[in-house]
Amino acid sequence: MKRLTYISNFSQPLARNEIERIGEVSVRNNARDGLTGALFCFHDVFYQVIEGEEQAIERCYSRILKDSRHKDIFCLKVEQGVSSRMYGDWAMKTVILEESGEAILVALRNMMDGLSSTHRILERYAPAEILQTMQQGRNPLSEKSSMTERVVIFADILASTTLTEVLPAEKVALLLADYYEIANAAIVESGGTISKLTGDGLMAHFETGMADSALDASIRIIHRLNDLRSRAESHDPRKFLYSGIGISAGKVLEGSIGSDLRKDYTLLGDPVNSAARLESVTRKTGHAIVFDSRFRSLLRKERTLKKLGRYLPKGKTDQLQIFTIPEDEIKFHITSESLRKSIQSLSEPSVKLNLN
Ligand code: FAD
Repeated sequence: MKRLTYISNFSQPLARNEIERIGEVSVRNNARDGLTGALFCFHDVFYQVIEGEEQAIERCYSRILKDSRHKDIFCLKVEQGVSSRMYGDWAMKTVILEESGEAILVALRNMMDGLSSTHRILERYAPAEILQTMQQGRNPLSEKSSMTERVVIFADILASTTLTEVLPAEKVALLLADYYEIANAAIVESGGTISKLTGDGLMAHFETGMADSALDASIRIIHRLNDLRSRAESHDPRKFLYSGIGISAGKVLEGSIGSDLRKDYTLLGDPVNSAARLESVTRKTGHAIVFDSRFRSLLRKERTLKKLGRYLPKGKTDQLQIFTIPEDEIKFHITSESLRKSIQSLSEPSVKLNLN
């Protein structure tokens, strides 16, 4: 047998009778399917345990996952090979925890509150794949890494070293927040996944069938940064927020990689290195987006592309044929040197000490 425990949040306020209705339908279906369990709810949080034969659990859980009455479903625990039931007497015991001061209820409410806030924290920090695996009731620690085809994007802020040198840390943090808001939104809106934040940039990936969406997301990042810069005042650091984007595609090893102590969900392989190298080539070409022929061969939408020539990435033996989008908006219109100088001019005038 299998036992599955998850928490979720109400997607809208639910009256007591609506929760009771969920309990009634659950009892009816679970009695039919040989499932047992308990459903607790407090404020806007559900905490549910269901147990029974594996296939019956999977069918029930897939209905629960689709239910629009709750959201942010987060699977806390999956137990396989369970030999005895914990909730054998209940097809689905439904408990609405009131604001009562009874000690056991206070403890349960605290536990649910704690789980719910842990979930919100994890949601911010864990990669989407890990959350998805957990939501589907699988344990990410036992998932094997696998070879797969991916589009890989590397995006990085230009002259970030100068920005951190010149600006106080709090201003750098605000600038990064603006950058990540633009870049994350463009990637996620287009169906991509943020693989990792690199400190002054990010790595993202798309399925190879979504190459056009990956390029559209990259173009959107550059357009939105252009827009942000054009609205910024002359002494606002956002006036100097530029990004380079490198894109490649091909076979990667995807999954949790690392030691038993610390694991990272990541992609490994040639397309990752190529995308990172192509990102740094953007400075030399003056075009904010640069991609290779492997990525280009995946594009299906009719578009005008510009061949930039051949490029030998550092440490590699094969040259890459590189391309860009021949749009004025995709050009930097500033050299690395003058960008650095403009950023340096942001530094506050140094205070002259009068030692007399
Ligand atoms: P029906 O009998 O046709 O529908 C079920 C009832 O729910 C109907 O009254 C329907 O109008 C109502 N309903 C369904 N979806 C919505 C919605 N989005 N908004 C408003 N009303 C809706 N099902 C189980 O079988 N076992 C469980 O243990 C279980 N636990 C659940 C726990 C939670 C927190 C939630 C939110 C739902 C749970 N459900 C459970 C319900 C499940 O999501 C499906 O709605 C249900 O299994 C469908 O059953 P049915 O096919 O017999 O549908």
